[in-house]
Amino acid sequence: MINVQQQSMILIVDDVPTNVQILAEALSSVYRIKVASNGVDALKIVQRERPDLILLDVMMPGMDGFEVCRHLKEDVRTQNIPVIFVTAKNANSDEELGLNLGAVDYITKPFVIPIAKARIRNHIRLKQQADLLESLSLLDALTGIPNRRRFDEALAAELKQAIRDATPLSLLMIDIDHFKQFNDHYGHGAGDVCLQMVAMELAKGVVRPSDLVARYGGEEFVVILPETDQLSALQIAERLRVRIEKLGLPHACSETGNVVTISVGIATQARIPEGFMPQLLVDMADKALYAAKENGRNRVCSH
Ligand SMILES: [Mg+2]
Repeated sequence: MINVQQQSMILIVDDVPTNVQILAEALSSVYRIKVASNGVDALKIVQRERPDLILLDVMMPGMDGFEVCRHLKEDVRTQNIPVIFVTAKNANSDEELGLNLGAVDYITKPFVIPIAKARIRNHIRLKQQADLLESLSLLDALTGIPNRRRFDEALAAELKQAIRDATPLSLLMIDIDHFKQFNDHYGHGAGDVCLQMVAMELAKGVVRPSDLVARYGGEEFVVILPETDQLSALQIAERLRVRIEKLGLPHACSETGNVVTISVGIATQARIPEGFMPQLLVDMADKALYAAKENGRNRVCSH
């Protein structure tokens, strides 16, 4: 749970000390400020400190701001930190590239300090709201389907029920094939839309009210299938795989085909012993998913 009273932390990344100084002076009365003069140091600080917002210079020697942003957005632990690019005025193509990489805004040099401050304040407020909602909510903020927390609760509850009723329980672990390449090629904005479309299609693809589709994290999804034996789970998994393929979302950089596809790992526990740990079922499904990947992706594999 975040504490909204706590001072938010802003990381300023710029190779020109004067730029850093101007921004730091303008912001240090309201925020905690960290500073980096190059991309590599910036990424190190982000891993250690988890700032609430990053002001990122585009033009830097070595790793430029776009590259830093790409790294941040590739890592599930840092991808939700808002990035504002700081750049010299009048480069529209840069602005487009930056926003497609997942930046939330642009600030142009030379700074108009009150405007820069107002924009930063707005984005910090949005970040605090998103953090709070995410921590309170059982829904994933991006896709709107149940999140990891809801999944953990539901799996524990369904296991108890299955033990009580002596019924089988199946779990599907799903991963979008070559999603990193998709993001690299189309940008993170398109990547987010892809996650939303896949989530929606998976949710439509399960019909029983007791089945639960959730986002497990990154490009991974899970489906809990109560009272479902291995054969039925296999049929459901295959149905979901076909649905996603038929969505026909173009994927120019997939080695598996020219559209977005998924791999699915299935774990079924026919008779569940007392004290069975939920994590065990997750691990089994994960192993099966790994096998599906190893065997060529866009396929279903049972543990
Ligand atoms: Mg620079």
